[in-house]
Amino acid sequence: MTSAKSPISLYNTLTRTKEPLHPLDENNVRMYVCGPTVYDFAHIGNARPVIVFDLLFRLLRHHFGDEHVSYVRNITDVDDKINARAARDFPDMPLNEAIRKVTEKTADRFVADAMALGCLEPTHQPRATDFIVPRNDGKSDMVSLIGQLIDKGNAYEANGEVLFDVTSMPDYGKLSGRNLAENLAGARIAVDAHKKNPADFVLWKQSSADEPGWESPWGRGRPGWHIECSAMSAAFLGEIFDIHGGGLDLIFPHHENELAQSRCAHGTHAMANIWMHNGFLQVEGQKMSKSLGNFITINDLLDTNKFGGQKWHGRVLRLAMLTTHYRQPIDWTADRLFECRSMLYDWNKAVFEAPLQPVPAEFLAALCEDLNTSGAITILHALAKSVNAAATGLDKVETAGRLRAALEPIRAI
Ligand SMILES: [Zn+2]
Repeated sequence: MTSAKSPISLYNTLTRTKEPLHPLDENNVRMYVCGPTVYDFAHIGNARPVIVFDLLFRLLRHHFGDEHVSYVRNITDVDDKINARAARDFPDMPLNEAIRKVTEKTADRFVADAMALGCLEPTHQPRATDFIVPRNDGKSDMVSLIGQLIDKGNAYEANGEVLFDVTSMPDYGKLSGRNLAENLAGARIAVDAHKKNPADFVLWKQSSADEPGWESPWGRGRPGWHIECSAMSAAFLGEIFDIHGGGLDLIFPHHENELAQSRCAHGTHAMANIWMHNGFLQVEGQKMSKSLGNFITINDLLDTNKFGGQKWHGRVLRLAMLTTHYRQPIDWTADRLFECRSMLYDWNKAVFEAPLQPVPAEFLAALCEDLNTSGAITILHALAKSVNAAATGLDKVETAGRLRAALEPIRAI
């Protein structure tokens, strides 16, 4: 391309402003996004960060080059919810075997769902259980990180647990905007006697003989959830990286605690420079819940007639997710899916077999502006409209080629 690229600007939850992205290393732009806990099929709310951060991954690859972006999305395969599900579904099997069955089946389904939604595979998809104890390759692991936190006075052992001492970090709470006094007040009712402060959180807990466990200096046990992401992000992206993403519901406590652990263990001023969060999702105007009967999995949408009376193509689901800006709440409705299906139909019809042109600069500029997908979609509409309006000839073919370039090589929308 000859024209200058628009700079990418992104809303940073940490500073509450939109900021230009200045990668630490333009040859290796690094992004970490919290992945699924694999005990059940992913629901449509889980699909939102998967699609949104795939869009950003594609934009970064287009901008900096395919080989110059590292995207890590973990798989959490150790969690008490997984243990409970394994015991429920496979009561006659030894727990470890049952757990493996649950996590493998669910993780495979997740990867297949993400692919059906038009998402590229992340550069790395580490599983938490591979990063608990020290590794032969020397990559970061949870037990070593916890040891560092104890050595530096940020964590302590009590009552079979290792806990992070939130008062050891002067600016704990900065990401979520919660101050310690609020946390203390909120937690006053259920103070665990062994904690120094009510807001202290678990890094390691001991396992009973029938729970999954790993050997550690603090006995046979298992990690807390937050430390997993601190270890896996450091293992692949280093102590400080460019972008950390996830859903709004992860800001507190998960991301706040990841950030505290990583900064204190590594002695750094930051874990990631830009923290991004996607908004919530409702279904037909209501909070999605199993009790309301409006709980839908990605698999339901792709393979059954449970929503809108038919199966949906992953491309329609992806477009529907991107019609609302990622930071806004989205209402997932059948009407929206029907609309998006006909939009895609119109665009594909307009594209015909036109030779590819460069990706339209205004389309890229919209995406570079904090992933302004509705702006980008408006540009696609306008292009499709002018293809249809042009009688015949060069103009028509060229415009169709530009529309095709926006739709196909990046596959952002
Ligand atoms: Zn995480």
